[in-house]
Amino acid sequence: MAEEKGLVIVLSGFSGAGKGTIMKHLLNKYPGKYHLSISATTRDKRQGEEDGREYFFKTREEFDKMVEDDAFLEHATFNGNSYGTPKAYVQQLIDEGKDVILEIEVKGALQVKKIFPDALLLFVTPPSATELKNRLVGRGTETSEVVAQRLAISAHEAQLMPQYDYLVINDRIDDSVERVHEIIQSAHYATKYNDSTIAELQEELKAFSKGENK
Ligand code: 5GP
Repeated sequence: MAEEKGLVIVLSGFSGAGKGTIMKHLLNKYPGKYHLSISATTRDKRQGEEDGREYFFKTREEFDKMVEDDAFLEHATFNGNSYGTPKAYVQQLIDEGKDVILEIEVKGALQVKKIFPDALLLFVTPPSATELKNRLVGRGTETSEVVAQRLAISAHEAQLMPQYDYLVINDRIDDSVERVHEIIQSAHYATKYNDSTIAELQEELKAFSKGENK
């Protein structure tokens, strides 16, 4: 069988929708199956985060230099900080036939769709807006001002949801992980992701029909 390229999968969602948790469980449940792209960011490192694991933490100057050097597949600002997906790593993974997941916000996601029109765009949401608000308030770590700010960002992001390919309603985490896995695995059967296999079959059949390759 011909070797196909890996899929580019974009996972976006409201702050508080649980996309980070889905990703963590997905990578644990299917070790080696999915590869997570690690972004660069100018935001401060949070407690428990490590450089090169959650993000590559960059100064403003370092980040701007990467933009200048065309090192990003996409980049965007979110809540006053810059975030970008390193281009070379993603390209290398898909060339090796590996599925790579980008956990990024909406503006970046739509940039990726322009570069890779066949990218799979998944949007994660809690079952309702009330549930989203409760989750943000329930964290207890944010001031009411920050919660209101997050909800305003969510309202804007919701306008872009129709541009995504799939909606993942995160009610139970285990179900959501399975749903994401199934969406990606089903996509592998789509003809557009099997160009090389189809071309190989066409070539071989053409040769057979001409009496070659007996
Ligand atoms: P946080 O600072 O909470 O880790 O992330 C804030 C937002 O930035 C999240 O929606 C996250 O998915 C998004 N994000 C993380 N990395 C990237 C990236 O490389 N590009 C873009 N466009 N968004 C990103």
